[in-house]
Amino acid sequence: MSDKRYVLLGPPGAGKGTQAEKLCGELKIPHLATGDLLRAAVANQTPVGLEVKPFMESGRLVPDEVVINVLMEAIETAKKKKLSGYVLDGFPRTFRQAEALEKVLKKRKEKIDLVILIDTPDEVIQERLSTRRSCPDPLCGAVYNIKSKPPKKANVCDLCGKQLVIRSDDQPETIRVRQKQYWHDTAPLVDFYERRGNLCHVPGDGSLEEVAELILQAAQTGIRRKAPRK
Ligand code: AMP
Repeated sequence: MSDKRYVLLGPPGAGKGTQAEKLCGELKIPHLATGDLLRAAVANQTPVGLEVKPFMESGRLVPDEVVINVLMEAIETAKKKKLSGYVLDGFPRTFRQAEALEKVLKKRKEKIDLVILIDTPDEVIQERLSTRRSCPDPLCGAVYNIKSKPPKKANVCDLCGKQLVIRSDDQPETIRVRQKQYWHDTAPLVDFYERRGNLCHVPGDGSLEEVAELILQAAQTGIRRKAPRK
């Protein structure tokens, strides 16, 4: 079991969720995905869920203080189970979130060991999001792609048998909002982590397995690849 802490960074549709799951399986560490945690809160109609629902449905970012609390709680829960390593997926998404995370880790003399940026061209993302299907059950939350990772039976979740859906925030108009939000709020974090010296670029346009292999190599060796020259 690894005690290292990773962040997976990349635009919506870069494959962060699927890749984080694979990486966590290999390293046997928890996958902390703020999108999943928030979707569970919405499904369970908790006070946080009711607050964030309109933001999530329209593809906007939920307020920093809410998501920071949700994430810190998840880190605490992992820590109580003596799990100090983890992969963060979907967090941080703004400077405030990155700074809040850094502050909390610093207090505990911890740090993010590696930030892996999945560099994915816009055309690939558009295609991936429009072919994504998700299990609507918040306890399952499995994600498929009708082209690259289809379920065994068309439109039925392999794990729990529920009918798969297109997530409300995977509708074309919402995808555009989420992409705009990424370039405005989250992409500047690439520079933030580049300056910290712990950013690694992984090309995200290969097959799911190819990208997973590159991510695993990066995580295990800690080699920090720079962005390819354009
Ligand atoms: P995801 O599954 O990571 O694509 O997240 C789905 C939605 O949850 C996003 O479109 C946001 O509305 C919300 N969300 C997830 N993580 C964050 C975050 N770190 N900051 C703000 N909003 C978030």
